[in-house]
Amino acid sequence: MLKVEGLKVAYGGIEAVKGIDFEVPDHTIATLIGANGAGKSTVLKSIVGLTKLSEGRILFDGKSLAGLSPDQIVSKGITLVPEGRRIFSNLTVVENIKIGAYMRRDDLSEDLAWVYDLFPRLKERSWQLAGTLSGGEQQMLAVARALLSKPKLLMMDEPSLGLAPLIVKGIFDIIKEIHKQGVTILLIEQNANLALKTANIGYVLETGNIVMEGPGEMLLKNQSIREAYLGKV
Ligand code: ATP
Repeated sequence: MLKVEGLKVAYGGIEAVKGIDFEVPDHTIATLIGANGAGKSTVLKSIVGLTKLSEGRILFDGKSLAGLSPDQIVSKGITLVPEGRRIFSNLTVVENIKIGAYMRRDDLSEDLAWVYDLFPRLKERSWQLAGTLSGGEQQMLAVARALLSKPKLLMMDEPSLGLAPLIVKGIFDIIKEIHKQGVTILLIEQNANLALKTANIGYVLETGNIVMEGPGEMLLKNQSIREAYLGKV
């Protein structure tokens, strides 16, 4: 589905991503793990057209995304749930969800029913102002909004950030459910343990380079990953 080849991204002459290759096959959950500043968010931003590549190509269903605007990339079927959720605090839950469908002109009722089924809490609170939701509910809202664009590939930037462990578990259960319903997922996480347990395929990013890759379960057992990212020896 997604193929990244020789991706380099620089900010003012400093390379944040130094020529990486990776793939997200159809119907998988892939994860990119790495420490703060490793370049994870930069990779996602370049896929959705928010950051310019200095070299390399990004292919989606075999076609290059070069030259497409972020809106056009959403229309192709790639949606990003950004770090920090970026919800609109002064709009209601349902208004926020509908923003995800801004590129669509068709009837939303079926998809609204779908996300309310996934997130019954949002249904109960559909008229509440989004700024008054808890952190976990705001993360659910950011995911629900992204689903309204009907992505084939849903990318999530640190969905666990700042949330209590029990809430994080709930979010990951929903990620698995969304995947089961046919959406391919690319997840970036500092919570390497949970991300690798969830993902079929994992990539480890260190200072702009992919240093290791393989099935999530295999990376979880790897000694150097355990020491560097899981705090275990
Ligand atoms: P985190 O988990 O802390 O968000 P990350 O792995 O997602 O980290 P990035 O946010 O991609 O890392 O940052 C990679 C490097 O690029 C960092 O050194 C960061 O300071 C730098 N960087 C990111 N965005 C910009 C920008 N807009 N201008 C200049 N440098 C940037």
